Amino acid sequence: MTFSRADRDLLVRIGAALYDRGLTPGRTGNLSLASHGQVLATPSGVSLGRLDPERLSVVSVDGTHLGGDPPTKELPLHLALYRNHPTSRAVAHLHSTHAVAVSCLESLSEFDALPTITPYYAMRVGRLPVVDYAAPGSAHLLSLVESLAVTSRCLLMRNHGSIAAAADLESAADAVEEIEETSRLFLMLEGRRSRPLSDEQAAAIRSE
Ligand code: ZN
Repeated sequence: MTFSRADRDLLVRIGAALYDRGLTPGRTGNLSLASHGQVLATPSGVSLGRLDPERLSVVSVDGTHLGGDPPTKELPLHLALYRNHPTSRAVAHLHSTHAVAVSCLESLSEFDALPTITPYYAMRVGRLPVVDYAAPGSAHLLSLVESLAVTSRCLLMRNHGSIAAAADLESAADAVEEIEETSRLFLMLEGRRSRPLSDEQAAAIRSE
């Protein structure tokens, strides 16, 4: 068995922690873990607050359903991030309120949605390219994510939410949570003169 009980329990625990803190409402958001050519993922239509470790989906990296409940319909987005970031072992995707609000702003830098307001953002996210709107679960959204994933392991999908790949599930969850917190700060600072980190300051943090 590729995934241990500890892997399953970790996914359930992180899902509950994200849900309990209001970081993804209703039955939105999804998580996955990759190991040895297989992916353990949250099932379709299930709240992150009520995951059952026995019913998590197991799929191959080509998307074939191998066990558990059918996977989230957004799993192809996770697989696109794994393909583009082979050292990543986990992906987290949230519909968190402030990040979604930022994703709806008319003028956004397509190259990087948010300023580097804090060193933690530089550490956990780095750069956040913006994916044009396409319907959730569509082949069009997948092709847009696939083409931008090569440039960054964190993405903001317009009118939808954030997605991040990382070396482990805690770090993927930290990245989407950091995107949410930085989005909140960004909206609080809108219309005020503010000082994000300079490019040099941000680069120094990223290279540490
Ligand atoms: Zn979504």
